[in-house]
Amino acid sequence: MTVLRVVLLLATTLAACTSQNAMAPVEAPVAAPVVTTTPPDPAAVAANELGLVPVLMYHQITPDPAGEYDQTPAEFRAELERLYRENYRPVTAAQYIAGELDLPAGTHPVVLTFDDSTDSQLSFTATGAVRPDSAAGILAEFAARYPDFRPVATFYVNNEPFGADPRALPWLAAHGHEIGAHTADHANLASLDAEGVQRQLVRNVRAVTTAAPEVTVRTMALPLGISPRDNALARTGSWDGTSYAFDAVMLVGANPAPAPFGPLDPAGVPRIRSGRGEVPFDSAYWLDWLAAHPEQRYTADGDPARVSFPRTLSGDLAARWADRANAY
Ligand SMILES: [Zn+2]
Repeated sequence: MTVLRVVLLLATTLAACTSQNAMAPVEAPVAAPVVTTTPPDPAAVAANELGLVPVLMYHQITPDPAGEYDQTPAEFRAELERLYRENYRPVTAAQYIAGELDLPAGTHPVVLTFDDSTDSQLSFTATGAVRPDSAAGILAEFAARYPDFRPVATFYVNNEPFGADPRALPWLAAHGHEIGAHTADHANLASLDAEGVQRQLVRNVRAVTTAAPEVTVRTMALPLGISPRDNALARTGSWDGTSYAFDAVMLVGANPAPAPFGPLDPAGVPRIRSGRGEVPFDSAYWLDWLAAHPEQRYTADGDPARVSFPRTLSGDLAARWADRANAY
């Protein structure tokens, strides 16, 4: 039942350690080490903050994968290794859509998203630790080995998430993960009337904010990738005195997403499906493609206050970011 929006982009424009010698003569004032905070010349790192961003969609991380989007823990670890090796650094979906991409120069953002809040993504051991073979546990372990890989992801949850474990949502919030909406009951939103759509989303947001009151639910993912008949209700609505307004609606499939500073439609952000090589245009396909087309990929300039890009791409800049533009 997955609705694929396969939109191919093939033709688009798409310290030195300045150790102070303890025996140095005392008469000379000691110069402080020079710490440069100036980001490099964007051209030197081929910065392109109007380039494509892979938003990866995961389902279960399990030793016995059943669905075509499931992965084993070993496959998930291998994909994280590849992302790290190819200089991708995670941001959440909410950070991506808001353009909050504070990344080192020369690195690329990647958004890791997990749908359906299964306990394969987050569960706890008898002693209360996060289970090491869960998605959250694997991410935490990976970041412990690679401290410059921020272990942040976006979890699109239904009600009674992660086996209805009351520790789960507060744990995600406390560890920098984003909690997004995926409807209360994993509803096919096209099958519901307008009130039903809004009820599904309000009940879902309420469940999240009841369990983790510090959370604001900022993005949502369409169950099955299916939009409501009134598309606008996926993004904003209200029911029973509670309203919701999401910054972005995530689709299922099947290509990299535009840069947040470029021609992005927040009402339909494409995601790339991560699986086991059983579906076309999956993460392996697109990571290969982006590696072969580095000029199409988002590459950070190292300065979050500036949006750098080759001058030839100036036409792609969304008007609201004009005051940050740094064409070169
Ligand atoms: Zn789902």
